[in-house]
Amino acid sequence: MLNINSVEIDSGENAPLSVYVHWPYCARICPYCDFNVYKNKPDSDLTASIIADLKAWRELTGPRKIQSLHFGGGTPSLMRAHDIAHIIETVGHVWHYCDTPEIALEANPADAHKARWTEFKQAGINRLSLGVQSFNDTALKLLGRDHNADAARKALALCAETFEAFSLDLIYGWSGQDTALLHSDIETALRYNPPHISAYQLTIEDNTAFGRALGRGDNRAVNADESANFFETVAAQLTQAGYNHYEISNFAKSGFESRHNLGYWEGQDYVGVGPGAHGRYTQNYIRHATICESNPALYSQRVKEQGIGLKDIQALSRTERSDEYLIMGLRISKGISLARYEQLGGTLNQAAMAYLIQDGFLQIRDNHLQASAKGRLVLNHLTQQLLT
Ligand code: SF4
Repeated sequence: MLNINSVEIDSGENAPLSVYVHWPYCARICPYCDFNVYKNKPDSDLTASIIADLKAWRELTGPRKIQSLHFGGGTPSLMRAHDIAHIIETVGHVWHYCDTPEIALEANPADAHKARWTEFKQAGINRLSLGVQSFNDTALKLLGRDHNADAARKALALCAETFEAFSLDLIYGWSGQDTALLHSDIETALRYNPPHISAYQLTIEDNTAFGRALGRGDNRAVNADESANFFETVAAQLTQAGYNHYEISNFAKSGFESRHNLGYWEGQDYVGVGPGAHGRYTQNYIRHATICESNPALYSQRVKEQGIGLKDIQALSRTERSDEYLIMGLRISKGISLARYEQLGGTLNQAAMAYLIQDGFLQIRDNHLQASAKGRLVLNHLTQQLLT
């Protein structure tokens, strides 16, 4: 039975809201990337369109408190600092910021310049997420990146010098990598004492250059067993170094978890603006999934013509909503609140839950259902079992 009072927090004025801004341009398209990206070009319309889109979104969400604003992409470090400042200000005018909002930007090491990052900080960015991927030149070449190991180290040093909160991304599981090379990448990262590290397994997606290479029999990633071993190596090394493994691919020193991403995993609302951005918002107790027009020119045209950049809005059924809460929530160490899951109308397969707990894949702590370390290796399987 839906408990309206308990769910009301999802849509009230004080319910936290996050904003995601997608900047779709990159200096070059990496062969493993399946995001909505385009080769970089000057696009003065896009910032204006994003700003108009944000204003239109206010009609959908009503007044809300912003807990995080995230510039992702693509490569938002290609944006002009004054455009970033303009968007940050607009979000504050359209809604209102909480006392200490997280305002983060994803950056490419190739864009690391002291003056530029200082401008970003002055614009209001208080967290930088650096796409290092590896400190190994062979790996960076294989991954098609436009920086080398030396540039990665220099960018990370500049990041540590400029921002108190920063994160770096590493990719593991590229073909040719062994445990020693993986250790070396992590050790190099740790020298800069980053408060947050994201370590992603290289996955080969169909619609990418690596996917096409795989179709020709050329696999650029290690096999599933090696990848699982690497995952355990990463988790052990970073946990030992004092990081909290708070989400499958994310590790943080206490207090430096990504609030923006936690919002996704905990099922909070977020506005998504910019080409191809996804969003979620709750109105009258109904959660909606949104997606913007993907092509930058068509996105700007849509904003001009209809006032908002959305291509589609779907009301989620109760089952879709509770499924999403489970699938996203089991990614984080905290897990899902069983009480909230029930309030959302979800029903778990009790028999499956019992044997998965007995076999050590799941655990219940403080009325939260959590995936154990062993369970995190087979998360898709767990959620399938729980939802059958
Ligand atoms: S820089 Fe990032 S977003 Fe751009 S193509 Fe490479 S992986 Fe994709």
